Amino acid sequence: MTSDLDLYPVSRLAAVQEATRRAGLGALLLTPGPDLRYVTGYEALPLERLTCLAVPAAGEPFLMVPRLELAAAEHSPASRLGVEFVPWEETDDPYAHVAKRLGAVATVGLADRMWAMTSLRFRDALPGAEQVLASTVLRGLRMRKSPAEAAALREAGAAIDAVHARVPEFLRAGRTEREVGRDIADAIIAAGHETVDFVIVGSGPNGASPHHELSDRVIEAGEPVVVDIGGRMPSGYCSDSTRVYSVGEPPAAFAAYYEVLRRAQEAACLAVRPGVACEAIDAAAREVIEEAGYGERFIHRTGHGIGLETHEDPYIVAGNAEPLVPGYAFSVEPGIYLPGEHGARIEDIVICGEEGGERVNDRPRELVVV
Ligand code: ZN
Ligand code: ZN
Ligand code: ZN
Repeated sequence: MTSDLDLYPVSRLAAVQEATRRAGLGALLLTPGPDLRYVTGYEALPLERLTCLAVPAAGEPFLMVPRLELAAAEHSPASRLGVEFVPWEETDDPYAHVAKRLGAVATVGLADRMWAMTSLRFRDALPGAEQVLASTVLRGLRMRKSPAEAAALREAGAAIDAVHARVPEFLRAGRTEREVGRDIADAIIAAGHETVDFVIVGSGPNGASPHHELSDRVIEAGEPVVVDIGGRMPSGYCSDSTRVYSVGEPPAAFAAYYEVLRRAQEAACLAVRPGVACEAIDAAAREVIEEAGYGERFIHRTGHGIGLETHEDPYIVAGNAEPLVPGYAFSVEPGIYLPGEHGARIEDIVICGEEGGERVNDRPRELVVV
């Protein structure tokens, strides 16, 4: 298992501070969420009481923490960073405290997932500071996964593969999507995830709705079923993988486009290597699907970055000319959807390496007939 020490190295804080300085920001203000966890390893509870790591471009970073959360913070990996913890009492104004310690700053980078109520209170406390997203600084760092982060994504991939391996046990005609989904959710935890992030079981026509989750629809014989599942590992890193199953032999029309989809997904995975634009990966999948006449049935981008969040930068979409860099990790998940009939999507997480892409999921991509 990847250790917290490797995943959240003590050196990261200094690198983030340096990046903050280089970006010309006065400070980063990181409240509970993936940005704070990335920098400190601390999985803090998002609460109305302010917990905030302030990383000034110059000067000592500090963690503002409610008195009653102090013990939790001290037991978290953040305690290794040598950062001062500043506990505040129920009657204190923690925003004023942060503002006072930062002094005059012209720009602050707020955690991308900071609550609006928090960001507005920072606006009042720091009226002279322009607010920008912390991703201005953190995006480049978070996209490029370290070897330990890549290892954590491999662990997550192996865990979700183990769940897909069990899906044929759960899927059969006469059961509802919800019943199957409950078994899958239990299996996601049993496979080592800490939380279940989502369970999509799209049977028959529901498979044509990419973000359909679960319903009480009874699965019938001869129906394809899209199973897209993911969770968060104790490391903080996420899994996300889609496979398509068929309860008995599927309709011939389905089998025909499924093969097109399989080739498209393969082509996009094989196109991954450093220097290739994100949009070229999307195009690699889309071309195959368009040539086969299903272009209008592929209604979403090819993929999204993944790490501490299931959906994060970089997005694999037309218009994103950003070149891939070793360490980028993202999904490759083209789909073909025939509304009212059925649909299919095949999804693997791919890590860009020096030579090409490495898939962290390796369950068979052929249609699984159960
Ligand atoms: Zn999605
Ligand atoms: Zn997915
Ligand atoms: Zn996905």
